[in-house]
Amino acid sequence: MNTRADKSIAEFAPAMIAWQKKHGRHDLPWQQTRDPYAVWLSEIMLQQTQVTAVIPYYKRFLERFPTIATLASAPADDVLALWSGLGYYSRARNLHRAAQVMVAGHGGKFPQTMDEVTALPGIGRSTAAAILVFAFGKRGAILDGNVKRVLARVRGIAGYPGDSAVAAQLWEQAELLLPKTGLRAYTQGLMDLGATVCARRNPRCTECPVQTLCIAQKNGRTAELPTRKPRKVLPQRRTQMLVLQRAGEVMLEKRPPSGIWGGLWCFPETDADADAVAVCAQRYGARVELREALPVIAHGFTHYHLDILPQPALVKAWPPGVSEPGLIWLSVEEAVGAAIPTPVRDILEQLVARSRKS
Ligand code: SF4
Repeated sequence: MNTRADKSIAEFAPAMIAWQKKHGRHDLPWQQTRDPYAVWLSEIMLQQTQVTAVIPYYKRFLERFPTIATLASAPADDVLALWSGLGYYSRARNLHRAAQVMVAGHGGKFPQTMDEVTALPGIGRSTAAAILVFAFGKRGAILDGNVKRVLARVRGIAGYPGDSAVAAQLWEQAELLLPKTGLRAYTQGLMDLGATVCARRNPRCTECPVQTLCIAQKNGRTAELPTRKPRKVLPQRRTQMLVLQRAGEVMLEKRPPSGIWGGLWCFPETDADADAVAVCAQRYGARVELREALPVIAHGFTHYHLDILPQPALVKAWPPGVSEPGLIWLSVEEAVGAAIPTPVRDILEQLVARSRKS
C-alpha cells in the first residue's frame, strides 16, 4: 500500500465519525438503548427492510416481548403474528429460536463474543458485529448491503459483492478502515451514509464526508460500482388459493415449519388450473359452490415470481366431525390478525372490499 493509500485509509474513519455526529441519524428508537436484545431485534428487522417500515414493528414487538425470556417462552404463532407483513419470516423463526438458545445456554443473557453471537440462529458476521458495537461498545467490522456499496465505491472494488472473492475483498477493507475508538459513531455513520447519501442511484457525493477519498467518485464510476448482480430471468409460477367461506368465516391452513411462509397460516393451495370443486371434494369431502374469482396477486420471491389466483368458494356441505389438524376457521377480522403472509392479507382485503360493494 503506498503512502497516499495509507493516508486515505487513515482519514476515512475520522471523517465518518465527525460526519455522523453532525449529520447522521440520532433519533431512531433503537439508538436510545444499549439493551443487546433491543439492538439485536432492530438489526434483524432492518435486514432487507426500510427504517420507516421497521419502526412500528419494532415498538410493537418490544411491548409484547420486552425480554429475551418473554420471547423465548412465547408460542411461535404469536411471534409470527407480530412479524406478519414484515416479510422474510425466517428472521422471526430464527429470532425465536435464538432467544430459546440464550435461555437454555446463556442464562437468558445475550452473549458478548463474536463466536458465541454468530453461533446463534440467524446472526451472521456483520449483524453480530453491529450488536457487539452498539450494545457492548466492542470493536467489529460490519458489512451489510449499504456498507458494501459504500466500500465498493470508496475503495474502487469492482465485481458483484455476492461473489465470495469480492466479498472477501470488501471484508478486508472493512477491517482495514476500522478505527480503534469511536466505534459506535463510526458504525452508525457507515450505515447512515449508505442509507441517506451514498444511495444506489444518484449518490449525493457533494454532501459526502469521504468524497475526496472515494475512488469511484474520482474516476466517475459511481454508477457502475458496486457491480450489479448478473441478470437472471426468474421463473414464473402460478398457484390457486382456495378461499373457503362458511358462516362468515374463512378457512386457513398452517404451512409446514420450513420453506416459503413456513409456519404461517395460508389459504389452501392447489394447481392453478385445478378444478376447485373437485379438489375440495377429494381433499376435505366437502361440497362447495364457486364464487367469482378475485383479482390475481403477483408476488415476487428471491428465486421466482408467483401469480396467485384466489378462488372464493362457499361451503355447502362439510362432512360432520371432519376437523383436520392444521386447519382453522376464523372470521375475516381474526384472520387479518393471525400470522399470515402478505398475499393472504391482500386476499382478505379484497374479500372485505367485495363484501362492501355487494
Ligand atoms: Fe458514495 Fe459519492 Fe461518497 Fe463516494 S463520494 S462514498 S460514491 S456518496
